[in-house]
Amino acid sequence: MTSYVRPESLDDALVALGEDGAVPMGGGTDLAGQIDRGIRDPTALVDLGASGLGTIEQDADGLTIGAAVTLATLAEAPELEPYAAVRTAASLAASSLIRNVGTVGGNLCQHTRCWYYRGEEWHCWLGGGDTCYAQIGDHRKHNLETGDCISAHPSDLAPALAACGATVEIRSRGGARELPLLELYRRPTDENRSLLALEPGELVVAVNLPGPPDASAYERVGERAAFSFPLVSVAAARRGDETRLVAAGVANIPRELDTGDPLAGLPGNPQTLWKRTLLATLADRALAAVTPS
Ligand SMILES: Cc1cc2nc3c(=O)[nH]c(=O)nc-3n(C[C@H](O)[C@H](O)[C@H](O)COP(=O)(O)OP(=O)(O)OC[C@H]3O[C@@H](n4cnc5c(N)ncnc54)[C@H](O)[C@@H]3O)c2cc1C
Ligand code: SF4
Repeated sequence: MTSYVRPESLDDALVALGEDGAVPMGGGTDLAGQIDRGIRDPTALVDLGASGLGTIEQDADGLTIGAAVTLATLAEAPELEPYAAVRTAASLAASSLIRNVGTVGGNLCQHTRCWYYRGEEWHCWLGGGDTCYAQIGDHRKHNLETGDCISAHPSDLAPALAACGATVEIRSRGGARELPLLELYRRPTDENRSLLALEPGELVVAVNLPGPPDASAYERVGERAAFSFPLVSVAAARRGDETRLVAAGVANIPRELDTGDPLAGLPGNPQTLWKRTLLATLADRALAAVTPS
């Protein structure tokens, strides 16, 4: 039996999340699927909608985007206009129905869409089993790395925010910490299969963006133009002579790319070689878009 709470302050939310088996819920658009497929069986859903995390604040250092801000709000917010990559990523993710309820925190912390991980009939390595079925089966849409889990990172927002230099604020009942956004993610190990570097009871409360880059761009390809996860996406952001290039869909976490050789360290496998061609093309486009003419 799962209970539902909607705390009216961040402190109350952190207390509720301190209970064994409690999980944070933004819009529930991914969490509902996880529960439905038996991936999670939470004791309590802690709805963050009334916890005071739904605002975008601007000061001299940049922006603070609350974890409960929706993708739709992010895509339209005037404060985000100088961060073209982030606005584009937010406006292209999923569908308008999902963008209206899906939140920044939930988008960054969503689980992989690997069809074995999501399939009720499988209990794959990432889900706690002992076999990566993708590596012995159909992995057309999986990633370009080697390793125990070849799932593809699904978030549109993560590469765009990371390229623009975002950090994440994390809170728990025990304290607070701030990490570069890419460090929110980790490679899973035998001992800890999570792709997120969050401890039990920890919550992403906000994403901080420094002042705007000189130029940024987001390029993505999905199976359809709308309502379709990115198969590969690339975000580029330039500050002066320095450009950051970050991709989704090519590793099980968002991956920073070498601007001089975006395919480095991404060998692919027979079924995913097409993604290398796509990645090279999108990286070229994103770099061209931020390079002064
Ligand atoms: C049909 C479909 C198509 C989609 N297409 C795309 C797409 O093209 N691009 C894309 O980026 N996404 C896509 N998505 C995913 C969608 O964007 C996410 O489901 C949504 O952004 C998640 O936000 P949410 O607030 O609903 O998260 P929830 O479902 O509430 O939570 C998702 C996960 O994050 C955890 N969580 C939630 N908030 C926090 C927090 N603040 N701190 C820590 N953990 C937290 C939850 O416990 C859960 O594990 C698609 C989803 C569907 C169903
Ligand atoms: S790629 Fe990862 S999530 Fe998919 S079957 Fe393999 S271990 Fe599971």
